[in-house]
Amino acid sequence: MNTIADNLVAVRGVISEAATRAGRQEEEIELVAVSKTHPPDAVIEALEAGQFLFGESRVQEARAKIPILPGRARWHFIGHLQRNKIRQALALGFELLHGIDSLETARDLNRIADEAGMFPKLLLEVNVAGESSKFGFSPAKLRAQLEELLALERLQIEGLMTIAPFAPEAEASRPHFVALRELRDQVQTEFCLPLPRLSMGMSGDYAVAIEEGATLVRVGTAIFGTRSGKAWKPAAEGATFDD
Ligand SMILES: *Cc1c(COP(=O)(O)O)cnc(C)c1O
Repeated sequence: MNTIADNLVAVRGVISEAATRAGRQEEEIELVAVSKTHPPDAVIEALEAGQFLFGESRVQEARAKIPILPGRARWHFIGHLQRNKIRQALALGFELLHGIDSLETARDLNRIADEAGMFPKLLLEVNVAGESSKFGFSPAKLRAQLEELLALERLQIEGLMTIAPFAPEAEASRPHFVALRELRDQVQTEFCLPLPRLSMGMSGDYAVAIEEGATLVRVGTAIFGTRSGKAWKPAAEGATFDD
């Protein structure tokens, strides 16, 4: 079985090749190693192999994991942020929140960040494929609500994020990644607003995402292996998770 270190070498190789094919610099692309459901030991193995940026998608799991891991690990929140978990998420010091998916969440985040004296960096999640099962702004809603989002003074909106519909073929994701990049380009021009960061691509399709302009790829399975499906929790008795 491949080790996490082997997998990281392979993933970095794929990133480098995809960047070259697209005429891009490898350094433009940040690899977010998605450690959700995996134990702290797996994160330590990745740290020892030179991977410092990690992604978690549940606040409760991140609260159990982040404080017991070395401070050189950097963390992004990549999931849907429940409005009642915003305060806890901010306290964990995530460098970037990838999945801000509604005006209501953005308003709450702004208010709580103001109380906490923080200026969180975030990406707006766009449901480019219009899947009813997914969170995120529709492209039309994003345009309609962007002025209001930009007026939220505490928020540093740095770009857009999407999750492509599940498909066995990586190529099936390409039109969705193109749609996100084109939406970003249009919104940047219309609103005179720099949105340099594009978070798109997961284990099955990150090479395609890089070809289409991703600056952040969120890769879990290809680094850490298959997930059990359950959040990691410490063995200590009394630990409870409500998300
Ligand atoms: C779990 C998750 C990933 C990683 O998925 P893999 O297919 O394991 O690479 C990426 N993005 C989000 C938002 C996730 O929840």
